[in-house]
Amino acid sequence: MIIKISNLSNGEYYYTFDKKIEEIELSEPFIGNILVEAKLQKSKRQIVLNADIKAKVIFECDRCDEKFEKELINDYKIVYYFSSEINDEEQIDIKYISINTDKIDLSNEVRDYAQLAVPMKKLCKEDCKGLCVNCGKNLNSENCKCNSKEIDPRWLPLEKLKNNIK
Ligand SMILES: [Zn+2]
Ligand SMILES: [Zn+2]
Repeated sequence: MIIKISNLSNGEYYYTFDKKIEEIELSEPFIGNILVEAKLQKSKRQIVLNADIKAKVIFECDRCDEKFEKELINDYKIVYYFSSEINDEEQIDIKYISINTDKIDLSNEVRDYAQLAVPMKKLCKEDCKGLCVNCGKNLNSENCKCNSKEIDPRWLPLEKLKNNIK
């Protein structure tokens, strides 16, 4: 994901990348292509880059173990400063580049930010019912007999008492 910046006059530019995940060294849980829409604003002293990332993943649901496909999105902004001296103290969103730099490569940032979009909790849907702890059936698609007795809330205190005695 390379943008040529030599001979680029000051102004605003838009780029779209549609690359196979392998090309930026992404693998599982990512699949297919990764889409990046980038806006670049060049001025005399700096380049401001905004990028929107769209990626597809296959997750296994934390509750029901079913595989499901999901689209992940993320975005980031980086300012590339033209500087004659290379500054070691690069911050996450600031990079220093030589005035003679002819291209910038987005691959590393796109890969990092795509990976940051992977959530800790992976649910096929918000209200996934999960698997029955007793019989292991997927409660999204079938009801099992284990918990079929709905207890009238008015009897709940009594039910608790009963369980304590057991
Ligand atoms: Zn699920
Ligand atoms: Zn069950």
